[in-house]
Amino acid sequence: MAETRDITLDELASLAYAVLRHNGFGADHTRAIAETVLAAEHDACHSHGIYRLIGIAQACRDGVADGGVAPTVVDHAAAVVKVDAGGGFSPLAFERGLPMLIDKARRGGIAAMAINRCFHLTALWPEVERLAAENLVGLAMTPSHAWVAPFGGKRGLFGTNPLAFAWPRPNNDPYVFDFATSAIARGDIELHAREDRALQPGWALDRTGAPTIDAHAALEGAMLPFGGHKGSALATLIELLAGPLIGDLTSGQSQQFDAGRGAAPFHGELIIAIDPAAFAPDTKDQSAAAERLFEGIVDQGARLPSQRRRAARRQTKADGFVRVNAALVDELNQLID
Ligand code: NDP
Repeated sequence: MAETRDITLDELASLAYAVLRHNGFGADHTRAIAETVLAAEHDACHSHGIYRLIGIAQACRDGVADGGVAPTVVDHAAAVVKVDAGGGFSPLAFERGLPMLIDKARRGGIAAMAINRCFHLTALWPEVERLAAENLVGLAMTPSHAWVAPFGGKRGLFGTNPLAFAWPRPNNDPYVFDFATSAIARGDIELHAREDRALQPGWALDRTGAPTIDAHAALEGAMLPFGGHKGSALATLIELLAGPLIGDLTSGQSQQFDAGRGAAPFHGELIIAIDPAAFAPDTKDQSAAAERLFEGIVDQGARLPSQRRRAARRQTKADGFVRVNAALVDELNQLID
């Protein structure tokens, strides 16, 4: 078992802010990125919590990502907002484009935001949760690097391509899911490698294309999509919608852009917002039908996605601290020395 350390939420936030500031991020990017990774750590989503600060800090320190650039928001069409992240990380670009996306979704019933030219290493649920908080349905997707083999293939072609969805629920936590279309997130494979833990069968291939449970071999080989041909097709959809459709890079092109540096993926992101009120004069019927569906899930003893995460969030708030990998904290502290 890896050694852990309990650190208070204030200490955790100070550490995140210090790592980002010390490695070249301006105040706005620091806050936007820190809020996203801290939210993930609070929700016990460790693959996209403070662990991500290592890669994010390195991208800025090495001059690959721009830590000070101001994203540009463009009113591109009646239902389309475009945000040029200008080579910065995605959280600030999302934040800057969000008000226009919300406004367009409320006016037209549905609107999309394309974020272009962003580095991306964070979870998507904080973004769709922001839309649900505005009583909008949210959908977000992004490519990454070409790490995932297509179903039946042997080499990385797709990104881990996450898809996140949020449905607002009056007087309740929104229904939210957010998952990579790979069998497991890349960050989890990396965490397994750091702790020398075996992977589960069906997650990865080695460099020869043979199935492997060795996390190190998997990092040199390819990951597998979830759900066989279905996950493979969904990953293709995300490549298309959050790549060529919005005039940005596919995961393969992102990998080429990276040119072996091993930096964060660089590409676009598509976020879609839907106003339920545009589809029905009285949203009570929609909500009632949705609630019956959720009850149908829970009544069978199944749980809703994000239920674990929300419970972790409440627990973190009550505890006032998080339990983190001690070696990771040491590594982050070295980044501010
Ligand atoms: P998980 O497999 O951990 O979880 C996927 C979703 O399924 C979550 O919403 C989770 O809810 C839910 N879930 C898990 N188990 C159950 C269950 N038994 N019943 C019902 N729902 C369940 O996610 P991944 O490892 O695939 O992805 C993790 C994160 O990685 C995502 O946040 C994603 O955005 C991020 N990512 C980011 C990338 C990037 O380039 N920026 C690339 C790839 C991934 P809960 O959280 O409550 O368990």
